[in-house]
Amino acid sequence: MGQFKERVFSGVQPTGNLHLGNYLGAIKRFVEMQATHDCIYCVVDLHAITHPVSVWGGPDELSQQTREVTAAFLAAGIDANKHIVFNQSQVHEHAELAWIFNCIARMGWASRMTQFKEKAGKDRENASVGLFAYPMLMAADILLYRATHVPVGEDQKQHLELTRDIAQKFNTDFAPWIEARGFGEAFFPLTEPLIQGPATRVMSLRDGSKKMSKSDPSDYSRINLTDDADTIVQKVRKAKTDPEPLPGDEKGLETRPEADNLVGIYAALAETEKAKVLTDFGGGQFSTFKGALADLAVNKLAPIGAEMRRLTGDPGHIDRVLADGAERAATIARETMRAVKDIVGFVGTR
Ligand code: ATP
Ligand code: MG
Repeated sequence: MGQFKERVFSGVQPTGNLHLGNYLGAIKRFVEMQATHDCIYCVVDLHAITHPVSVWGGPDELSQQTREVTAAFLAAGIDANKHIVFNQSQVHEHAELAWIFNCIARMGWASRMTQFKEKAGKDRENASVGLFAYPMLMAADILLYRATHVPVGEDQKQHLELTRDIAQKFNTDFAPWIEARGFGEAFFPLTEPLIQGPATRVMSLRDGSKKMSKSDPSDYSRINLTDDADTIVQKVRKAKTDPEPLPGDEKGLETRPEADNLVGIYAALAETEKAKVLTDFGGGQFSTFKGALADLAVNKLAPIGAEMRRLTGDPGHIDRVLADGAERAATIARETMRAVKDIVGFVGTR
């Protein structure tokens, strides 16, 4: 990997409500990575339309959600001047490289993706071809920028493994031509996922065995970034728990998914570890802990929600941020795509 400049890429889909899982598993990490890396953060609108229109909501909803996710990036502290923030559909090279990756990836690899199986559900015949091809587009998103690191939630681990497999196969299939064009042994890096911290998989507040998700029909299953203080307090108070007091150490969380989830959320919001949270709250009742968790969540999330509302009030500003980011992203994307086309053997000079 030594030959590749370190670069971070990650994306969020503009579908449904952004929730605490997206914040702790992804966006908060995006903010942290800015201190040490060049970062590219993308609102992945091409991914959003892999779902049925009834899910992504149609054109008005898509553009509104695209601006809302952008607002969340900015409100959480992403600096769109020092780094790059844009929406995927403005840089057409994403779709172009995805096609090449569709021809690199094997049916067997894509068929093993659990996200496809979960999202397609029982009615697989009726899922879009795009939903099946989603991981190849995701690999293209990352490798178009030859990104070396991708901060994501735990649910995306398998897609990152596929991204590495695609990069590896491209590097091997075209090795002599890659070498001949002066790119050495590998054109694409083997990208590392960054899945770290106490909240890489935030669970539903209603069911400790299900991921907190935008698409859960129950709004009480998640805390949305735009929820007001009263709503956050209500949702934390109503979160499912068991009747036992909190354990004194992490081992005591192993068979208690709901308790584990709330302690993980607290630790991530407080930027500490689960063990430390249990030192403070172990042996106590959930009601006390929930009160503290609600206060902490309101303290951390309410200012982000308020800033999001302010930013979405000026869509012109958000659109300018995205256009400027897209222009800078396209400069890198064009260069990669030109080299890829040359390596594959597509004739042309543009
Ligand atoms: P969908 O259910 O439509 O896939 P999502 O909530 O998974 O929506 P995405 O846009 O697919 O949102 O994911 C954005 C980022 O948020 C990814 O890095 C993903 O891993 C992370 N993420 C999503 N849900 C969680 C969660 N419950 N806990 C931690 N991270 C999460
Ligand atoms: Mg997802």
